[in-house]
Amino acid sequence: MKTIPYATQSIDETDLQAVQEVLTSGWLTQGPAGPRFEQAFAERHAVAHAVSVSNATAGLHIACLALGAGVGKTVWTSPISFVASANCALYCGADVDFVDIDPVTRNMSVAALTTKLEQAERSGQLPTIVIPVHFAGLPCDLAPMRALADRHGFKLLEDASHAVGASYQGQPIGSRYADASVFSFHPVKIITTGEGGMVTTQNAATSRQLQLLRSHGITRDAGDMLLNAPPPGPWYYEQATLGFNYRMTDIQAALGHSQLQRLDAFHTARERLADRYDHLLAGLPLKLPARAPSAGSLARSAWHLYAVEVVPGDRVAARNVVFQRLRDANIAANVHYIPIHTQPFYQARGFQAGQFPAAEAYYARALSLPLFPTLTDEQQDHVVTALGEALRA
Ligand SMILES: *Cc1c(COP(=O)(O)O)cnc(C)c1O
Repeated sequence: MKTIPYATQSIDETDLQAVQEVLTSGWLTQGPAGPRFEQAFAERHAVAHAVSVSNATAGLHIACLALGAGVGKTVWTSPISFVASANCALYCGADVDFVDIDPVTRNMSVAALTTKLEQAERSGQLPTIVIPVHFAGLPCDLAPMRALADRHGFKLLEDASHAVGASYQGQPIGSRYADASVFSFHPVKIITTGEGGMVTTQNAATSRQLQLLRSHGITRDAGDMLLNAPPPGPWYYEQATLGFNYRMTDIQAALGHSQLQRLDAFHTARERLADRYDHLLAGLPLKLPARAPSAGSLARSAWHLYAVEVVPGDRVAARNVVFQRLRDANIAANVHYIPIHTQPFYQARGFQAGQFPAAEAYYARALSLPLFPTLTDEQQDHVVTALGEALRA
């Protein structure tokens, strides 16, 4: 039997056609496909500005710069995330620290954030940016986070890599609570461009800064010229700041635009499979994913991951055993994530195991089951049966 992956892309005829068209259009990069994808993405997420980038890691880097990260500044994020959520701060010369997770949602805990901010206020070491991560596609509790950002004067940068098209309190992620939001289009995520990402913001100045940083810090806009205004000729450009080449190609943007037309169908398929998992797994010694960011808040998850926890017991096999048994049954379950602060690189920077106990407890029990739009009911039934057997001690 073919191995069932934990995640995979869905590419159909319309995607193939979109890519084929752009290949013969005359523009492979810096053509019209980029702005077209950006505009469609902004409309879908009800946000004023969307800036495409070569990947979400690049997006996190320039978003951190645009929001003021630098030497002597501090950025906080969640330990249960991909390493890029923390590395982006270090790229800017800033320090990084973590806020423990809520064991129910696995997102950054608002209570832990509140306590840590009060301590930081007293010691005069408030963060410049806080990066909550919408783990598995379930939105963080953004309203209290926004209130804390306003009270303590930090910027809120969403790592929305898992949350393309998700919503919180009826509003699309990326539009309302954060100063900027970063989305990933890696093939395991909700929509794909191969490699790719998008940064959204409601702030025109932030958007302008992101555009500069994405392309060498260079501007061709007469209104932005510092030295020679008006510019001496159409060849003229000015480098205003130190930027990068983090551009998305037109080939990627055409694929992204095509995938965006399929986003609602992807969501519906993922939601149906998640509901089905909830139903089929009830009664097993598992903790299933939360449905809401907090009591009383409303959200629609993008269902990037379906992550369960193996609840220990006398008759329950350990997570590592369950994991291996699933692999033996051709099911490529996965574990998201190894807490970032326990990585050797972060340990060498002074972090220690035991510092973020909720994150570490979650990691010890976590298991991501296969979830992607083309997963069939038959494959899902196989996962459920194999998991039921694998859990027996
Ligand atoms: C995938 C991912 C990233 C990095 O995205 P790339 O597009 O691969 O650079 C960052 N943060 C989180 C939470 C992710 O899942």
